[in-house]
Amino acid sequence: VPAVVNEPRNIPFDPAVERQRLRQVCYRLTGDATAAEDLAQEAILIGLRRASRDGDPPHEWSSYLFGVARRLCSVWRARRVRDDSRFADLGIADVSTPMALPDVSAPDPLDTLLTGEREQLIEQALSSLKAPVRQLLLARYVDDLPIREIGERWGISENAATVRIHRGRDALRKVLETRLRAEASAHGLLSAEAAQGWRETTLFCCRCGQERLQGRFVAGNPATGEEPDFVLRCPVCPGMLHGMTSDAVPMNARAVLAGVQGFRAGLNRVNRWWQDYLADALEHRAPLCPRCGGPADGRISNAPDSPGFGIDCPACDRITFYIHPTGLLYHSEEAQSFWRRFPRMRNEAPQSIICEGRPAIRTSFADRLTAARIEMVFDTATLRCMRVEATG
Ligand SMILES: [Zn+2]
Ligand SMILES: [Zn+2]
Repeated sequence: VPAVVNEPRNIPFDPAVERQRLRQVCYRLTGDATAAEDLAQEAILIGLRRASRDGDPPHEWSSYLFGVARRLCSVWRARRVRDDSRFADLGIADVSTPMALPDVSAPDPLDTLLTGEREQLIEQALSSLKAPVRQLLLARYVDDLPIREIGERWGISENAATVRIHRGRDALRKVLETRLRAEASAHGLLSAEAAQGWRETTLFCCRCGQERLQGRFVAGNPATGEEPDFVLRCPVCPGMLHGMTSDAVPMNARAVLAGVQGFRAGLNRVNRWWQDYLADALEHRAPLCPRCGGPADGRISNAPDSPGFGIDCPACDRITFYIHPTGLLYHSEEAQSFWRRFPRMRNEAPQSIICEGRPAIRTSFADRLTAARIEMVFDTATLRCMRVEATG
């Protein structure tokens, strides 16, 4: 336990006793012994700082510290959920599985608008939407109905309700960015997304083949040491694909993205890096963890419900990367060139088959507009590509 600086002379509680108790509380709330240790310590430090201040001390130190610890635990849990969803969704999801709202960790200014007090502006913005969209957004954000209940009322699945709400938000955002731009920016509602640099790109999402990808591409600045930042996301498909971002720790993003502008060119560069990384990881099984950059173990999972390749990092103490065979197809040169020819391709559900007498997985993308398809068959045991075929 590190020494506490500026420890007040008359401490109104016994740090050793409280720490012991808080560690148990934190362990119950996080299920993580190391985190519990840190969080309990943090709560004690907050308590000591509070005790050293003049003014109004808590009546009951034990319950005050308990409250602090609980708050710290909930922040820790929220952060971990975000990290996990960030890294758990690295394979290309099967679009037939239920979707969740995309994980966008920065607060969306629309939420502030929809749940806040800017009634006149929201009224104005909503009134320029079509009635069904307006009703849906009001039900979700003003009446605060759960998605499940909205689905029931509208007679649609939860999944469909989620997607419609998301589209409604996009429509609302467009109204704010165009017709009501001056008012919206006066309320500071447009600045957050813009400041983060999100833009709509000309690329279509290769999971749904329907939505245009949103992207952020900030060139690095060697003078300030700022790293480039490249990321693409679909407004509708869940999560972000790690293979569409430059933030894997072992990637030298500055070298990878040097001299390129534009999302297509950036994506090509990023993809080439992932091609090499994955080929090497599959071959040697000793990849660097994408999350911390330390040595990790690569493992092929043959589980019928989740075949693919995972990277298990001892330092991070979990699987920090997982890719489904469909993701391997996506990263292949063949699929990338197919995507350039058929920008509206979308991924299809993978199928377990027998190929050359061995268990195999057939993965594919199909063009939404023509009959063109690309198909790749992987050996389930080794994830080696056994066959690739493009038509159209
Ligand atoms: Zn999509
Ligand atoms: Zn790691």
